[in-house]
Amino acid sequence: MNAAADFKVTLLGTGVPTPRPDRFGPSTLVEAGEQRLLIDAGRGATIRLYQLGVPMGTLDALLLTHYHSDHTSGIPDLWLTGWLSSFYARRTAPLRVIGPVGAKALMSNLEKAYAADIKIRIEDEKLPPAGVATDVTEFNADGVVYEKSGVRVIAFEVDHGDAIKPAYGYRFEYGGRVAVISGDTRYNENVIKHAAGADLLVHEVAAAPPALMGEAYIQRIIAHHTTPREAGTVFAKTQPKLAVYTHLVLLGSESVPAPTIDDIVNETRQTYGGPLLAGEDLMSFAIGDTVAVTRHG
Ligand SMILES: [Zn+2]
Ligand SMILES: [Zn+2]
Repeated sequence: MNAAADFKVTLLGTGVPTPRPDRFGPSTLVEAGEQRLLIDAGRGATIRLYQLGVPMGTLDALLLTHYHSDHTSGIPDLWLTGWLSSFYARRTAPLRVIGPVGAKALMSNLEKAYAADIKIRIEDEKLPPAGVATDVTEFNADGVVYEKSGVRVIAFEVDHGDAIKPAYGYRFEYGGRVAVISGDTRYNENVIKHAAGADLLVHEVAAAPPALMGEAYIQRIIAHHTTPREAGTVFAKTQPKLAVYTHLVLLGSESVPAPTIDDIVNETRQTYGGPLLAGEDLMSFAIGDTVAVTRHG
């Protein structure tokens, strides 16, 4: 196995709350050496793992960026389906969850919500109780949140809006290479600080057509995210080997079409001329001397 294949980031879901079949809810798989980390579990994350042939039980940890439901609605599926005896699941040890303050409440409340299922499957299917347990770690500041076998993960606070706290992004370091995931954020200097020297920078983006920019609800959504021009500035300041968009917030209305991928790329080009891709579900990035792109399925 070459070094590049040893550190890989795969976009499982590049979407937002919109229930589109082509862009599932936000979720990203980071594989480094023998370890597999899942960042957020939006709608359909389990389906994408199944498509990749990655058994849910083989995940080392689930890392959460913030508590908007589009980033967490796939957790009960990952947690409970991942506990089944089938080849695609087979978790026999507690699900490790790492997130900003709020992760413990989320997981303990899910345990209450699904108490009947848990009781039934332990009794009926003889599933191991340890496999449905959770091991939750919360943090409340920037710093290292995971370190194992040469993989280091640093959480950094981002700015997703005054009422949407906590919100964090993650920096992954492995074998001298760096991948950074912005999480949901407006233009934020802390992303630039923590994305310094990144080989791969995966960033969110949001855009609306000029005809809708006068609408209050559109302004509110855009104010919680990063415009293509602003993201271009982040990329220009950090100079990753490859910049990738995920969590594409493409706003339209019944009468005004949403911006296209070409529109957001063209806007980004006003501030950034370097390597850039608009992410798609099941797009993978192998990080070595260069960042190699592959598409599954
Ligand atoms: Zn989001
Ligand atoms: Zn959000």
